[in-house]
Amino acid sequence: MIPEIEQRSKLEIKEYQESKLRDLMVYLADKSNYYKRIFQQNEIDISGVRSLEDLKKLPITTKDDLQKFNNDFFCVDTSKIIDYVTTSGTTGKPVFFGLTDKDLDRLAYNEAISFACSGISDKDTVQLMTTIDRRFMAGLAYFLGARKLGAGIIRVGAGIPELQWDSIRKFKPTYLIAVPSFLLKLIEYAEKNNIDQNTSSVKGVICIGEQLRDQDFSPNVLSEKIKEKWDIELYSTYASTEMSTAFAECQFQQGGHHHPELIIVEILNDNNESVKKGEEGELVVTTLGVEAMPLLRFKTGDVVKAHYERCECGRNTLRLGPVVGRKKHMIKYKGTTIYPPAMYNLLNDFTEIKSYIIEIDNNEIGTDKITIKLGTNEFSEDLLSRLKDHFRAKLRVSPIIEFVSVQEINQLKYPNMGRKPVLFIDKREPVIN
Ligand SMILES: [Zn+2]
Repeated sequence: MIPEIEQRSKLEIKEYQESKLRDLMVYLADKSNYYKRIFQQNEIDISGVRSLEDLKKLPITTKDDLQKFNNDFFCVDTSKIIDYVTTSGTTGKPVFFGLTDKDLDRLAYNEAISFACSGISDKDTVQLMTTIDRRFMAGLAYFLGARKLGAGIIRVGAGIPELQWDSIRKFKPTYLIAVPSFLLKLIEYAEKNNIDQNTSSVKGVICIGEQLRDQDFSPNVLSEKIKEKWDIELYSTYASTEMSTAFAECQFQQGGHHHPELIIVEILNDNNESVKKGEEGELVVTTLGVEAMPLLRFKTGDVVKAHYERCECGRNTLRLGPVVGRKKHMIKYKGTTIYPPAMYNLLNDFTEIKSYIIEIDNNEIGTDKITIKLGTNEFSEDLLSRLKDHFRAKLRVSPIIEFVSVQEINQLKYPNMGRKPVLFIDKREPVIN
């Protein structure tokens, strides 16, 4: 099931998106208090926005704008809202979103074509290993998407390896939806309880929240660790509440495919200009077909690189590589620029390390100070020196390394109300710009 538009020529895809963009401009000028005001303040004539190139005439929308003017973004009366969700708030105060009946249909369609992209069909059964509640959009999207596709679904939710294996044995799911590091916990449980994961019904996993690949799409350490013990296909998917759209990998696993019916993609530099093809920049999206809270040129905060060559699967749409990092989390260290995911990948290389947190602070001379807190019960001078060497060699940084109890790490890692583990704590003074 490949949507027809995704197989058309690049030009046809562009023209299709441009007609959707023109509809969106009319809709926003009529329904959105926020964008009405923005158009007025910037003297924007919406009839002048006809092509994707015209997008640059429009100001961008930031997370700050969403936080400050949250209610002004709603284009429908609250009586039309069916489901309320909030962003995960990994950076800053969470933002509320509402979805209308039509938005829920759009979300279902998005997830159905994303699942199909990763090879799931109506013959499959999917076990959902993430939360569906806690005002979390993704969990609901997985359920709706699987339903629309006609696949079976088992809603086990997050954690509890015992219940996960019990469900796998009872209902024989062919795919799982899970955070990849949780798969390591499942393997550990299987090994302790004489379950052979390799003869289970599971063929593949849709992996969320953590990266599986390096920028050249080769498997990263986490991915290799899983596949070493469990011979299954791992598919990346990238999405957010604000985008209400997923970028899912196909069987060729060369980045997340863009769905042109649902979203317009731009990749911009610090001056909000398009980067050259193939360069990394910040992902900026314009949602299409959203009724309650459509966004125009929303800056996601994620640094990505796009790939434009035609994919072997027959889709002509662009593909997004693994997120390089969050723009806000960029660390400047003695002339080197790094993002936390590169450090996570490196730490995952050490089996002795059970959990970790990376803390960034300003030091006395105003540059970034990196502290890595490690939870391990196997402290040794040898581990410390191997770690230091590894960081110097691979990333050209010398972080401060502190060993703490696994319990202390867990307290930092799972603060109250959190839906995702915290791996990165930023104590730097906010940059005013
Ligand atoms: Zn493909």
